Amino acid sequence: MSNLIELFDTTLRDGTQGEGINLSVQDKLLIVQRLDEFGIDIIEGGWPGSNPRDEEFFKKVRGLNLHHAQVCAFGSTARSLNDVENDPNLVAMLNAETSVVSIFGKTWRLHSQKGLGLSDEENEQLIFKSVELLKKNGRRVIYDAEHFFDGYKEDKAFSIKMLKAAETAGADVLVLCDTNGGTLPNNVFDIVIELKKYINAPIGIHTHNDSELAVANSLAAIQAGAEHVQGTINGVGERCGNANLCSIIPNLILKLNKETKQKINLEHLTSLSNFVFELMNLTPNTRAAFVGKSAFAHKGGIHVSAVLKDSKMYEHIDPKKVGNKQRVLVSDLSGQSNIRYKAKELGIDLSDNKELSKKLVNYIKNLEFDGFQFDGAEASFELLLRSELNEFSPFFDVLDSKVNVVYDNKGHSKAEAVLKIQVDGEIEHTAADGDGPVNALDNALRKALLRFYPEISLIKLVDYKVRVLNEKAGTTAKVRVIIQSGDGSETWSTVGVSENIIEASFQALSDSINYKLFKFQKEKQALTA
Ligand SMILES: [Zn+2]
Repeated sequence: MSNLIELFDTTLRDGTQGEGINLSVQDKLLIVQRLDEFGIDIIEGGWPGSNPRDEEFFKKVRGLNLHHAQVCAFGSTARSLNDVENDPNLVAMLNAETSVVSIFGKTWRLHSQKGLGLSDEENEQLIFKSVELLKKNGRRVIYDAEHFFDGYKEDKAFSIKMLKAAETAGADVLVLCDTNGGTLPNNVFDIVIELKKYINAPIGIHTHNDSELAVANSLAAIQAGAEHVQGTINGVGERCGNANLCSIIPNLILKLNKETKQKINLEHLTSLSNFVFELMNLTPNTRAAFVGKSAFAHKGGIHVSAVLKDSKMYEHIDPKKVGNKQRVLVSDLSGQSNIRYKAKELGIDLSDNKELSKKLVNYIKNLEFDGFQFDGAEASFELLLRSELNEFSPFFDVLDSKVNVVYDNKGHSKAEAVLKIQVDGEIEHTAADGDGPVNALDNALRKALLRFYPEISLIKLVDYKVRVLNEKAGTTAKVRVIIQSGDGSETWSTVGVSENIIEASFQALSDSINYKLFKFQKEKQALTA
């Protein structure tokens, strides 16, 4: 290897060992394609000896037409020295028919002696013979030295001897694993430097995040001369997770100015992260470095006015480089610059209307004091702004509403809502049932409006969140409801606040429908213009 960095992704193997993470074979194949397009060199697909799903994956992955990435099967060294050639685990790895394999062996005496009952020589031979068999079969072999750092700290000679066994047998990369995630970056750096006196094969690094240092440890190893780095997308993995490639990669490229073996499409990083979260059915981490929704979000008025002059003042990199974007949030910390920025995003120029932006800032501060929150409800903010500018007025008036919830003696409940609404002077009376009062109101509102606005049938409720604002007030506390809606092509969020949860929900629901109707109206106007 030259000093180009090789990127090894283990989202599909170590990543799926994380709690709550489950991927079907189809999901795994989709992720492989995305990782390949992104520029990852090696994709560890699973442990074929451990379960039938991984075996099936390796059969199907051969059918994919990958540009550059190599798929890799994972497994452990043979269990017994007597019959290494027929070891079921090694046989399964070879049967996976990948050009690259990664194999882990014990490098901490505690594990080989106490865990497996092996003498030093036996462990050394198992590593040697297992690697040798894989090399004889023409594989590129990545040797994962499990618990390397813990083993090294306890008995340096032992762990170097085990690494040497893999090297002598022909391993192509020796990966030092911080399996328990307890090592500090300065130790990782010093150990890699020292080890280079004994080892000639390229060194790799595999870390876990139990001390919140997996990314720092990976970078430290690279700075000390490691040329291969392993991690997962979004840092998923066992316990606290693996090293997060979504942070390692931009740091390597943008901060350490390292070159990767394959050109990385860094501007696809954020969408890759979201894609993997989506397939794993996990809520994206909004505070994730580089790729999180809040990674370049500015809320404080002073920050915002500075960022608008020169974004470098409060941003460590240009968000576009990682496919993310700058956001400015509207809140009670906002100044006029936040409002002007948001307005500009919506295509409204407030720069010569200082009076209005000042008025809006005060108005928003008062609403936030009452419990509204607009940084999670940008559609409600847009309606508010546009109605201040006389561009928007509600598409319907609710004249009367009633919700009943009836419980029978078996504990079953039934909710029913009755609504009287007015559209352009015409009155519509409807009733609808629902699973609970909010759902009944939602159903009644849609039913009443459908005749006037058939396009609302596209609107779907995506998420519904309730937050109690002043918990000490008990059941008379105010609640804030945030609703996320979608129509298949975009999603938007709206907010409602009241002491009455149904009222708060109804405000947010009404905003959601008004917002979409406003958008439809604008589209129509644009077409006829
Ligand atoms: Zn691991």
